Amino acid sequence: MPIFDKFQQLAEARKSLLGEGERDPFNVVIDQVISSTEAIVNGRRTILAGTNNYLGLTFHPDCIAAARIVLEEQGTGTTGSRMANGTFAGHIALERELADFFNVGSAIVFSTGYLANIGLLSTLAGSDDVILLDADCHASIYDGCRMGDAEVIRFRHNDASDLEKRLRRLGDRASRVLIIVEGIYSMLGDRAPLKDIAAIRTKYQAFLVVDEAHSLGVLGKNGRGLAEEAGVEESVDLIVGTFSKSLGATGGFCVSRHPEVEMIRYASRPYIFTASPSPSVVASTRAALRIIETHPELRQRLWENATCLYESLQDMGFTLGPEPSPVIAALVETKERGIGLWSQLMEHGVYVNLVLPPAAPNGGCLLRCSVSAGHTDEQIEKICQAFLSFS
Ligand code: PMP
Repeated sequence: MPIFDKFQQLAEARKSLLGEGERDPFNVVIDQVISSTEAIVNGRRTILAGTNNYLGLTFHPDCIAAARIVLEEQGTGTTGSRMANGTFAGHIALERELADFFNVGSAIVFSTGYLANIGLLSTLAGSDDVILLDADCHASIYDGCRMGDAEVIRFRHNDASDLEKRLRRLGDRASRVLIIVEGIYSMLGDRAPLKDIAAIRTKYQAFLVVDEAHSLGVLGKNGRGLAEEAGVEESVDLIVGTFSKSLGATGGFCVSRHPEVEMIRYASRPYIFTASPSPSVVASTRAALRIIETHPELRQRLWENATCLYESLQDMGFTLGPEPSPVIAALVETKERGIGLWSQLMEHGVYVNLVLPPAAPNGGCLLRCSVSAGHTDEQIEKICQAFLSFS
């Protein structure tokens, strides 16, 4: 049917890349989950090294118990959006706990981090405003920008002087600028130069948004992310994040010390028109947040694992992102080699993410690992051995 013609090119590109082989890196089915770090995939016991489960909380007994109780008490879903019948007492409690955790006044829970970014960026920046975003920002940030009316300008990845140059050029409009960066970038695992960016934000009186999706629970003495680690929380106007990584569930949020952000609830379409997170998801997320607050040793364990894997892969000669991080990406020159190496890792019982352009920066191809506090020494060693087999 003609309506499907537009997919022909995509189908051909897929076929020429993957052939008729059974193994499709973008359609991996996890047949059985064994733990936060292991699963059965294609009949093989496989170490999960690409799941963003940074603290391994998906199987934490407190999270499971909290979810189970609420599941029995409140049922499987809210069947409504936050603005209709989808705001339960648990959503409000989680918002209060998120606000307290970040020491700010306001928090808003969304159904996913993707929807949080879309809902925030498309409403916060209007037609008189300008968004300056780091070129390597996540697709949800790009999509949120596209859905709004603001002028959108990219600055060079992690280049604070390029950001400042563009702000300067805007003259009087600088105070109507929303700057957006990420705490840890999802593809290469590098951090934003947030001290410099926060100073620029203050100098030009711009509005600074930090997406801490990959840094919540991972960075900072209390796990609040890069803004805490860099000591600039006072200069960050809004933090956005997700429940789908260190918190081990699904959902998204924003927090801010500006009470005006509360009005986003009445303007943001993903808040108004999509079902809210299920009560059991909210319960496990609340339990996970408490664990982040009370178990700093998980963060320490995560960093021991991350540093060990980063240094081992570096010693084997892989080209990696610029700094050790729980996101460790090995750069591969071609898509074909990337697919081949990814398949070999699967043969060795190790799952990582394969990232092809345009998702990978600079037209490269990445074998992207994400490390967990839940990985044992033996699992980290097995991941290293799998990479060693083709280094
Ligand atoms: N922001 C960033 C930086 C991300 O990497 C992601 C997910 N990979 C999201 C937002 C979206 O999060 P969610 O999975 O909750 O939709």
